[in-house]
Amino acid sequence: MPRLLLHGMAAALLTVLTQLGGLAWLAALPFRGFRFLAVFLLAYAALWGAARLAAPAFGRVAIPCTDQGPERVAELSPLYCALNRNYAAPPLLDHANALARHMHAAFPGTRTRTLDAGFPFLEGFPLLPHLSHDDGEKLDFAFFYSDAAGNYLLGRARSPLGYFAFEAPPPGAAQPCDGTTGPTLRWNMAALQPLLPDRPLDRPRTAEMLRWLAAHPTGRDYKLFVEPPLAASLGVRGDALRFQGCRAARHDDHLHLQFHP
Ligand SMILES: [Zn+2]
Repeated sequence: MPRLLLHGMAAALLTVLTQLGGLAWLAALPFRGFRFLAVFLLAYAALWGAARLAAPAFGRVAIPCTDQGPERVAELSPLYCALNRNYAAPPLLDHANALARHMHAAFPGTRTRTLDAGFPFLEGFPLLPHLSHDDGEKLDFAFFYSDAAGNYLLGRARSPLGYFAFEAPPPGAAQPCDGTTGPTLRWNMAALQPLLPDRPLDRPRTAEMLRWLAAHPTGRDYKLFVEPPLAASLGVRGDALRFQGCRAARHDDHLHLQFHP
């Protein structure tokens, strides 16, 4: 394959994954070998730092990458920060921090962790594989988990990135989207499931998070995506709770909060 085409594909992939990585790749193009890698990493680090400084002028702020204590959210994995996927509009981050404070009040010491949020810049630039995370107004939260003995796991999820550890309805219960045909982003990741550690869902904390958000305690209007059987099994109801449909990603491994349509 011609070199130019390979570089084009690499730059496109980095742009899709990180928004800014493709630019760093292009900046390194005049170099070869070790120098190429060094220039790429330096350019990416410079763009990463510049984005953190510049994003607020464009209406988005970075969700913290490391633990900030129980009253503020932080990303579950530093990977979200490294890939520029941790940007949200300030009111959305404020709401997430209000949730963290509530969780700390209800279960002292609890850490509320976020997953994919949005890229730092541009409206309508989707954060794949999430089609809707394109404007800083959407934020995913990790569920809460305990170890096999039932002790709450501080700031950790069942899977390393927080996604794909599905809380499927028990066999025999109604399975959402059974029989769906055609293209769908509803991945089941069946091969991954047996590899995940035995960490049961912390049901009291996860239910409290859902309940607090579904009650609209700040009077703000928004939607929450969660699988209906899971919300029902946690005893949570509310107009905010929606089902994302059978063509979108499952929401029985994380919670999706969305301020605007
Ligand atoms: Zn989401």
